[in-house]
Amino acid sequence: MATPLIELCDIRKVYGGVDSPRVEVLRGISLSIHPGEFVAIVGASGSGKSTLMNILGCLDRPTSGNYRFAGRDVAELDSDELAWLRREAFGFVFQGYHLIPSGSAQENVEMPAIYAGTPPAERHARARALLERLGLASRTGNRPHQLSGGQQQRVSIARALMNGGHIILADEPTGALDSHSGAEVMTLLDELASQGHVIILITHDREVAARAQRIIEVRDGEVVSDSPSQPSADIPRQLQADDLRQRLDRGATQRGAWKGELVESLQAAWRVMWINRFRTALTLLGIIIGVASVVVMLAVGEGSKRQVMAQMAAFGSNILYLNGKHSSEELMGIVTLDDVDAIGELPQVKRVMPVIGDKLMVRHGNKGEQFYVGGNNTWFPEIFNWPVVEGSFYSEADEANGAAVAVIGQKVRDKMFGPGSNPLGQYLLIGNVPFQVIGVLQGKGASSGSEDSDERVVVPYSAASIRLFGSRDPEYVTIAAQDSSRVKETEQAIERLMLQRHQGKNDFVLTNDAALIQAEARTQNSLSLMLGAIAAISLLVGGIGVMNIMLMTVRERTREIGIRMATGARQRDILRQFLTEAVMLSMVGGVTGIVLALAIGASLLLADIAVAFALPAILGAFACAVITGVVFGFMPARKAARLDPVKALTSE
Ligand code: ADP
Ligand code: MG
Repeated sequence: MATPLIELCDIRKVYGGVDSPRVEVLRGISLSIHPGEFVAIVGASGSGKSTLMNILGCLDRPTSGNYRFAGRDVAELDSDELAWLRREAFGFVFQGYHLIPSGSAQENVEMPAIYAGTPPAERHARARALLERLGLASRTGNRPHQLSGGQQQRVSIARALMNGGHIILADEPTGALDSHSGAEVMTLLDELASQGHVIILITHDREVAARAQRIIEVRDGEVVSDSPSQPSADIPRQLQADDLRQRLDRGATQRGAWKGELVESLQAAWRVMWINRFRTALTLLGIIIGVASVVVMLAVGEGSKRQVMAQMAAFGSNILYLNGKHSSEELMGIVTLDDVDAIGELPQVKRVMPVIGDKLMVRHGNKGEQFYVGGNNTWFPEIFNWPVVEGSFYSEADEANGAAVAVIGQKVRDKMFGPGSNPLGQYLLIGNVPFQVIGVLQGKGASSGSEDSDERVVVPYSAASIRLFGSRDPEYVTIAAQDSSRVKETEQAIERLMLQRHQGKNDFVLTNDAALIQAEARTQNSLSLMLGAIAAISLLVGGIGVMNIMLMTVRERTREIGIRMATGARQRDILRQFLTEAVMLSMVGGVTGIVLALAIGASLLLADIAVAFALPAILGAFACAVITGVVFGFMPARKAARLDPVKALTSE
């Protein structure tokens, strides 16, 4: 005779022992089952039938004894090969149906094919055909709770047949059904047997068992009678054990179609999240706040940095300012025009310009307004890289003669003479002194503090000091270094010269824009660092939230995990599914956080605070959220993957 499909030899199963009473449920079961058989295992409740079925179906391992499937010792199979057997060789039909509550009939039937890597189109078609054959064509979209018991049992039979279902293991399939539905299910099993499926039917009901060709009776974990096996010879395309064995040897290493599994995992993850959306939203707050704060803070930092940079670019980065000390009484200093000339002689200095200025009332006709009026020499346009766009700048001769001429900013022109009008040749009264307008400066559009750079009037230094301010000495001196990369060196040279000229008294202050910007950048950096730490803590809290929700999910869905394993999911399939859920959770959190950040950024912009969103920052924050999901989702996912199939299946 050919190799039996299933061969049990002295199988024993013992429960308990350490902390609970030791119960020997199976006490030396030996039997073999051949292709083409329809076997009923009958016995009273508690006699060990379900335990035996779980061992037959490779959901559980015996305590001792030998189980050969198609000639291979099952004890030697690894978890992937056992998953293959559950997926390809067996089809389970349980008393309690064991359908996944969140999936439709169609999705439940398709599940084993997803783990087998069947392409979607083929999978859909086959599931539909099976459901149709079992009379459920109009119920494919229903979820289990929308089906009657008989219908649910037919869905589970369709699922058992999805990958072929060579051996149907049915544990009390009619136990929960009314007599009519029960009879229907039995007719189905009869049909499947005549089509060549091996049927192993477990029942306590002798009448039901009588439908089988062979009846094995168990009592208290022992076989007490076994009617002779009489597999019908005329079964079409009868399955040979050797066939299955070859496929097992080849097939266990087969990989599922990752794409189908991923799509299925994503859909399942989304369903679960949606069903628990309130809980999910609360748990995700940590990640949302973390991501949003990272993105907003970086945007604000970047925004103010760009503002400072723009200002620096507008006025040049090689500029130094020198003025006398005003802070302490005994070191009150004055920088004189002689000092200015001496500084101009230094080789490191390109240009030097004394400045005297203040806010003064400027009038034209019946209009009057306070503007900053500055006395500068003719280097003003060059030092600040700030050309005249209409008319011309004043000349050396104007400077030498103290000519009452003025060059005005764009906004002064707009306010005094009207936007776009020609002010050249007209007069402005500056502090009651008439000045003739000879030029208009290019618009800068830059501002520092409350000062708008386009609201200024520039007049010759000589005219300002004599006619407006009555002081010869400059208020401060603007110095342009030869080289913007050697500002430090220039600063030291000026310092040496000034100390020498002022008898060693350090009665002056020398600053530069670069230093100011650096100082500002430093405070900003430490601020971002602190805010970054807050964001990191939020992400950590978010991660713990994800872990918490995942642990809860695994606990709530232990039975689902068991069902997935019984239909052939490998450990890595379960791991991937729960990891996908964790990542999806945190991705949703990340996206929500980014959207929130953009909204906050928009409202900051409306409040006139500079923000600049940088794509790398957004992507970085998002990546952090996803990594959080992977890291904190891994432990729960692994816990799920390592569940024992039979324990998961029988959990409540
Ligand atoms: P049947 O399906 O024939 O009604 P079972 O195989 O379900 O019987 O159970 C047989 C015996 O094994 C019962 O007495 C039951 O109490 C015991 N049993 C089943 N599962 C466990 C378990 N996990 N731990 C301890 N005892 C168990
Ligand atoms: Mg049972």
